[in-house]
Amino acid sequence: MAAPQKYYPPRADVVIIGAGISGAACAWNLVRDSKLSVVVLDSGPKAGGSTSRSAAAFRHQFSSLSNIEMSIFAGREYREFSKTFGCEQVFTQNGYLFLWSRQEDLDAAATRVNFQREHGVPDVEMLGAAQVRQKFPWIDHPEMKGASWCPHDGFLKPDLVAATYLEAAVARGATLLQYSPVTAIEVSGGSAKAVVVGGQHRIAAGVVVNASGPWANTVARMAGAPIPVTPVKRYLYFTNQVYGAGVHRWPLTVLDLEVYGRPEMQGLMMGWDARPKKPAGWNQFPAPPIDTTKLNDDIEAGYGIGENDYGFEVLARMAEWIPMLGEKAGLDHATCGYYEVTPDEKAIVSWDPRVGGLLHAAGFSGHGVMHAPATGRIVADMVMKRKPLIELAALALEPLLIGEEREDPERMVI
Ligand SMILES: Cc1cc2nc3c(=O)[nH]c(=O)nc-3n(C[C@H](O)[C@H](O)[C@H](O)COP(=O)(O)OP(=O)(O)OC[C@H]3O[C@@H](n4cnc5c(N)ncnc54)[C@H](O)[C@@H]3O)c2cc1C
Repeated sequence: MAAPQKYYPPRADVVIIGAGISGAACAWNLVRDSKLSVVVLDSGPKAGGSTSRSAAAFRHQFSSLSNIEMSIFAGREYREFSKTFGCEQVFTQNGYLFLWSRQEDLDAAATRVNFQREHGVPDVEMLGAAQVRQKFPWIDHPEMKGASWCPHDGFLKPDLVAATYLEAAVARGATLLQYSPVTAIEVSGGSAKAVVVGGQHRIAAGVVVNASGPWANTVARMAGAPIPVTPVKRYLYFTNQVYGAGVHRWPLTVLDLEVYGRPEMQGLMMGWDARPKKPAGWNQFPAPPIDTTKLNDDIEAGYGIGENDYGFEVLARMAEWIPMLGEKAGLDHATCGYYEVTPDEKAIVSWDPRVGGLLHAAGFSGHGVMHAPATGRIVADMVMKRKPLIELAALALEPLLIGEEREDPERMVI
């Protein structure tokens, strides 16, 4: 007996391209709040893009109001997530610690902390060096000036979040079609009218949501409307398990806005973007034409865990501040994935001014996992013409297309 063929519905009110955490959150928010028919398409498995390659940190400590507001909304949703969806806990609230060795950076952090508190983050605070040593006795560095600290931040389980959103959306009538690459977007009369899957299945669409992460520019180009989103390879390094040090209780710790680490299975997951280079033109429009069929999981020469590799530099830098790592931690493995960066490293959640019915939710840099609940809510607000959760100008595409700076820039990009 022949296997049943995959069924592609001929039309949907909203077609979402990408079943990562952003597309999943969009789908859930749309079907929860409306009777719209929603189809989610992914060229691979759900959550198979950047979502499954993320450090998945969550923080409120941003410099821009829009990112702070997105974190406040998302934090609430993540804290309640297991209760809302009846799943296991997705949010480990070990806290988030920014350590500073330069006085001017510490002063700037204090200004930001005031700003964050004024805008509704009540538990963020500054710590002096002595307070850091007392609270986190494994941390010690002769140059340490102090820290900013938010105890209710932490890190997430992004694959589980995405899968849970999708499961809940499907239970409410959304259609999820994995291994279904969008190969074309039909535009007529200035509006997106349909997507084509695998070169043959046409799905007419009222709205097309581009939630395709590092592939977002390639997808946007299918509608003849490039967007400045560039994939940039980033690495994560994992230590062996470090027993007896209580690593599982450590907060996410960032040193001088550079190297960072957080617990993962009794070891440490670490990242640092000192070496991975952004391609020339990444901060201009049009973004460099990158062949996204070539995105891969290869650990490039020099970025592995060998003695002269970048991984060792990252661990050595971390051990300068957490001396016990120098004695107890070795490198176990490296992984990589792609940040999707915009010229100002802030997300685009915006209708496309050139193509009607095309809505982009992309360019999340290192913040797409933590902000996904807010992204989903904002996209649903836009499709349903509700008052948006936040001021949309901060996330608008148009200024980037004409080379203008957007409002509310973000300085805290790691
Ligand atoms: C090393 C690293 C560390 C990170 N650390 C953090 C962090 O600490 N905190 C944080 O919040 N974020 C972090 N991020 C960023 C975060 O992972 C991303 O912002 C987030 O996962 C983006 O989710 P997404 O759903 O928008 O994109 P993705 O998860 O990439 O999903 C996009 C999906 O679109 C699909 N797709 C692409 N083209 C097509 C097509 N033509 N047709 C159909 N489907 C298509 C892909 O298959 C993919 O599944 C990190 C990223 C990396 C790489």
